[in-house]
Amino acid sequence: MKRTVDALDGPALEGQRALVRVDFNVPLDEGRVADDTRVRAAMPTISWLQSRGCRVILMSHLGRPKGKHVSSLSLKPVVSVLEGHLGAPVAFMEDPTTEAAVQQTRRMKRGEVVLVENVRFWPGEEANDAGFAGMLARLGDIFVNDAFGAAHRAHASTAALARIVTPAVAGFLMAKELEHLGKALGEPERPFIAVIGGAKITGKIDVIEALLPRVDEILIGGAMACTFFLAMGFEVGDSLVERDRVKTARDLLSQADGKLIVPGGGVVAKKLASDAETKAVSRDQVEPGWAIFDIDPATATDFTKRILGAKTIVWNGPMGVFETPPFDAGTFAVAHALAEATKLGATTVVGGGDSAAALADAGLQNEVTHLSTGGGASLEFLEGKPLPGVEALNDA
Ligand code: ADP
Ligand code: MG
Repeated sequence: MKRTVDALDGPALEGQRALVRVDFNVPLDEGRVADDTRVRAAMPTISWLQSRGCRVILMSHLGRPKGKHVSSLSLKPVVSVLEGHLGAPVAFMEDPTTEAAVQQTRRMKRGEVVLVENVRFWPGEEANDAGFAGMLARLGDIFVNDAFGAAHRAHASTAALARIVTPAVAGFLMAKELEHLGKALGEPERPFIAVIGGAKITGKIDVIEALLPRVDEILIGGAMACTFFLAMGFEVGDSLVERDRVKTARDLLSQADGKLIVPGGGVVAKKLASDAETKAVSRDQVEPGWAIFDIDPATATDFTKRILGAKTIVWNGPMGVFETPPFDAGTFAVAHALAEATKLGATTVVGGGDSAAALADAGLQNEVTHLSTGGGASLEFLEGKPLPGVEALNDA
């Protein structure tokens, strides 16, 4: 267990400069923030610190500028979004490595908020450089990490910094993520089912292997199912497959002890388009020239039944190409099943950027127990890997 920011509550907190690592890696559209979900997710920690009289210095990465100043990846567009949520002006810090930056934080009044420029503009960030972390450390008296989405990276603002500034604690979003994901893995109410889909088996083998001994069943969907079909001896036409992973899929099936539930069929088409001719076929009937773009309705019904019978469900990866209807049907069926299971008292946890987007498309983002804000981080957590950004924080 890691120490959480509310453990610091008390008069001593007043006037402290709270250096907060947030995940403001927001989508930009022509210089504007296209979706402020991540900003909103950080608000509980920011507001709490303000209410305790802290001066709040926010840092984040945005995109992959690779250690250089890339204007299109500046965090400046986030300033007005923050101001909207806080109802107060927010200052911007161009360069956190200067003496002027330190002075800027010293001049701040209690409750004021400053946003630091994209920390990945400096090569020391991704190098987890102690020198760069040391410069960031001069900007704050306490360190709060609320960037769960970046916790799987050992970078200066997530890892090295936490070893320099004391105290170094988890923010509320980070704590919530760790609690929900930890509970699902640690003490799941059974039956415990994982639903794993998405494009590639490669990125998800580790999570399947890690989850197999813990779960009662893993339901497989997405393009990944096609590689399993090949491993089972079926033809998959033009479906997206990883031929070099067929043996891996076969190994997983043989060690799974019947726990891997592969779709009985798919929805196929000759091209990926909404106006394409489609048909549902069983997995031994995929003809050359056709590709599987979704699980078939019979599998969707079967998966729904299994999900509704479970007490803990973890979902990562869409069942089909949900971006192109009608191939969103299987994914939406799973999304609705999770929402329904939640109503029936099950604990449901969704991770993965595209799965989160699909859940939002279905309007069900508030109908599950926990929707993780960290795609890669949640996956690595489920794989049982230690997250450097979490490890570096003080223990409770
Ligand atoms: P997440 O971000 O939730 O972890 P992934 O990134 O692994 O999910 O996979 C999401 C992508 O997988 C989506 O863009 C979706 O279109 C694609 N996908 C799912 N099923 C198929 C399929 N049968 N064929 C091709 N692509 C698929
Ligand atoms: Mg993805």
